Amino acid sequence: MPSTRTGVFVCSCGPNIGERIDIEKIAEEVSTIEGVVLAETHGLLCSPDGKKYLALKITENKLERVVIAACSPREHEVTFMKVCETAGLNPFMMQMANIREQVAWVTPDRESATVKALKLVRGAINRTSRHKPLAKTSIVCNPEVAVIGGGVAGMSAALILADADRMITIIDRSSSLGGYKDNEKLVEYLAERVAGRSEITVISECEPEEIVGFFGNFIIKLGEDSDELRVGSIVLATGCTVDESGRAVAAEGFSEITEMLRISTDENGFPNREHNSLAPVSTLIDGIYVTGCAGGLCSLKETISRSEAVAGTILSSLIPGRQVETEPRTSVISETLCRGCRTCLEVCGYGAISFLEEKLVCTVNSVLCKGCGNCASACPSGAIKAQHFTPDQIRYQMAGLLR
Ligand code: SF4
Ligand code: SF4
Repeated sequence: MPSTRTGVFVCSCGPNIGERIDIEKIAEEVSTIEGVVLAETHGLLCSPDGKKYLALKITENKLERVVIAACSPREHEVTFMKVCETAGLNPFMMQMANIREQVAWVTPDRESATVKALKLVRGAINRTSRHKPLAKTSIVCNPEVAVIGGGVAGMSAALILADADRMITIIDRSSSLGGYKDNEKLVEYLAERVAGRSEITVISECEPEEIVGFFGNFIIKLGEDSDELRVGSIVLATGCTVDESGRAVAAEGFSEITEMLRISTDENGFPNREHNSLAPVSTLIDGIYVTGCAGGLCSLKETISRSEAVAGTILSSLIPGRQVETEPRTSVISETLCRGCRTCLEVCGYGAISFLEEKLVCTVNSVLCKGCGNCASACPSGAIKAQHFTPDQIRYQMAGLLR
């Protein structure tokens, strides 16, 4: 194991961990491991005092790696990553060992719990020796929005966005705005309001030909002679229809658009949502939203509320001048090892992988990649490396665990 300046901090989490595990013993045991220059316990590391203490220890001891044995990373990984950052340490040089949920709360015998916790901490120490600093990047967002489909759903979303001074382009395949045949008065009213708004441009009798890019920076090609449309978000507001058996099915041309956007869809062709209750208008790709019947058959009332939700989500995430941080834990494809089977392309739910025709290999767009690791586990050639979850890091962690 390469020699590194590693600091280990074992948190008592008030009585949560301290009463069930002998944390002093863990600190003492790991202090003898090669590379560990500091091993201490603390009562409550996530408290303001705990964070100050941690930052101070990192700088005072010039730590290059940090292991925090505490709660679940789901709870405080971001907290401790931020502390590392403020102390001048790359946040990806920190590893948590979850000795609360995985040990203290489930292993009643103190002695067994201490042995188990020690193994987890050893694994984390081993793992950090293989960590590499990862760089965060950010991109400037284009605050403009494209709405595909000029029915009630699309017009409603566009009008709310226009009220917030956003520039919107509605792209509609028909010659006039409309769509909700049961409510012509409402359609007329909305179309009149749209026509009166300088923030809204309507491009009729037109369909997107190609869509590339990512949240904050999408480019929509509308046809050979048209200019490119550059926007930060895309709202899918085209409808669905009902087949002979009364089943809601995606409208004609809908699948072409979902394919172009590379959003994953369900068995009926409608976009899968980030979360059916918590994020029902967000697709699995950042910056692409669905409203109205683009999300499946819905009533007029639901259409309006979906459009309000879409507009609200865009207004709170796509803020003019804001830079969006991209995920540094992305996957990388080796051109040498890739044999172009495109399995990775099939399993990526975020549209982050594309096939390079000229090289016959796949490549990952690091801005779109969410680091889920699906592609790395599916690749039959071992050509994909999920950064921060490399085989080497996992092997080292397991070696520490099994010692
Ligand atoms: S799954 Fe692996 S070998 Fe196949 S295209 Fe993707 S990276 Fe290349
Ligand atoms: S890690 Fe996940 S999001 Fe990134 S390219 Fe692979 S499958 Fe797509």
